[in-house]
Amino acid sequence: MKPKLLIVDLDGVVWLGAKPIRENIEALARLQGEGFKTHFITNNSTSSRAHYARRLEALGIKTSPDNVTTSGRAASLWARENYGKLKVYVIGEEGLIEELIAEGHEIVSRGSEAEALIVGLDRRLCYDKLAEALKTLLKGAPFIATNTDNILPTEEGPMPGAGSIVEALKAASGRNPDFIAGKPNPWILEVALKGYNVNLKDTIVVGDRIDTDIEMAVKAGAKPVLVLTGIASTISQEEIKNLSSRKVLIVRNLTELYTELKKDGGEGLS
Ligand SMILES: [Mg+2]
Repeated sequence: MKPKLLIVDLDGVVWLGAKPIRENIEALARLQGEGFKTHFITNNSTSSRAHYARRLEALGIKTSPDNVTTSGRAASLWARENYGKLKVYVIGEEGLIEELIAEGHEIVSRGSEAEALIVGLDRRLCYDKLAEALKTLLKGAPFIATNTDNILPTEEGPMPGAGSIVEALKAASGRNPDFIAGKPNPWILEVALKGYNVNLKDTIVVGDRIDTDIEMAVKAGAKPVLVLTGIASTISQEEIKNLSSRKVLIVRNLTELYTELKKDGGEGLS
């Protein structure tokens, strides 16, 4: 059976920071035109699903907020399913805060009042925020990270990611996160697949990172595709051998994936 759902990463696949990756966008639009469903997953929690959907639409990719899952949404949903509605101290940006409020959590401004700490990428991080977050952790409250990517690829090169902030809090508190919601945890894929009636075997996961996108796909039993337009722009022969043995398809860009999917009606990916 031809895979009909493409789970697509954003940073390093659709864009690099503010810069669109045109060849990949054109291939995605063509695949959509041929009946492939697309759902976008990102570990970047800084913006909301609605924001990413608008940005994708502006690039010519048909998308609604329901076709996007962020690590912020995955963290918010996990917290509510496991603890109910919480008073949360947040290190993170508007996108994460919006997703937390959407699930009924309350954002508090003091770490001492919080029942949980949720940490995502925060480009306005300051010492006071780390200090408040530490108060929450020292109470023994749940420590939830959106993701632990240490760096974020941008058009200006790598920038510190949410993982770098999590590391600072680990150092200060002596604690590890209790839960990491984003890739490579298959939880974020589970959240994305809610509402699709599709088998994981028929789901293709496309991403630029071996340690997150590919790990998640392999763990979940989906078809992994590594695209070399982002973080992994070059890989060694040894890595290629290792990835091939794990049935990872490696493509230079999504035009190549398009060609693969057209070949044998997609059976080439099975
Ligand atoms: Mg990426």
